[in-house]
Amino acid sequence: MIKDNVLEARRRIQAACLRVKLDPAAVKLVAVSKNRSIEQIKEAIFAGITDFGENRVKEAVVKHRELSATSHQPLAIKWHMVGHLQANKVKEAVRIFDLIHSVDSLRLIEEIDKQAARINKIQDILVEVKTSPEATKSGIEPLQAAGVIKAAAKFKNVNVQGLMTIAPAVDNPEEARKYFRELSQLRGKIDPSFILSMGMSDDFEIAVEEGSNVIRIGRAIFQGGL
Ligand SMILES: *Cc1c(COP(=O)(O)O)cnc(C)c1O
Repeated sequence: MIKDNVLEARRRIQAACLRVKLDPAAVKLVAVSKNRSIEQIKEAIFAGITDFGENRVKEAVVKHRELSATSHQPLAIKWHMVGHLQANKVKEAVRIFDLIHSVDSLRLIEEIDKQAARINKIQDILVEVKTSPEATKSGIEPLQAAGVIKAAAKFKNVNVQGLMTIAPAVDNPEEARKYFRELSQLRGKIDPSFILSMGMSDDFEIAVEEGSNVIRIGRAIFQGGL
């Protein structure tokens, strides 16, 4: 049951916060609903989820439209883009997403600014940082993050709210800690008021212990549970 999974995830977030004396209210749970049906999303809404993450613009547009057409408090739901964003999808993305987590170049920031300006929106974004050497992961190199964020300040329709990272898949979640810690240290250097989006089904408790403000959980909510 999605409802039980959500409750269990919240319980574990709370427990992780207590271990390190952080405020559970500072941690947002985003249910990553990619490849999940509208019915499953509605079930999650009934379980109290307000934030949904998607990784493909096309799929998100369809879900956004279908949910807006029904009466499931569409205005209270927030959409998060967590997957790699291509420049030619930015126009659609700024129309529906409240927060774009996966911004990994200044060129993309420029395009987001341009498209957001057209609809008079200030688009909230996170800058994705590549904290692990794994070649397949996208993201800006840690050493370049500060420069990109500084350069982003001149784009009036883009608001950088923080940093995001994806830890590599590891056997023991404890091994992911160093990547989360690196992102947290980077935040300390760039802007201590930034939020951190880090932690997925297998490693979110470690991410929370390292100061995550947004965790992105897919399988543990929609599939097997924890
Ligand atoms: C799919 C995805 C998630 C959720 O992953 P799970 O392991 O299913 O919890 C989180 N973040 C990103 C960027 C994803 O693509």
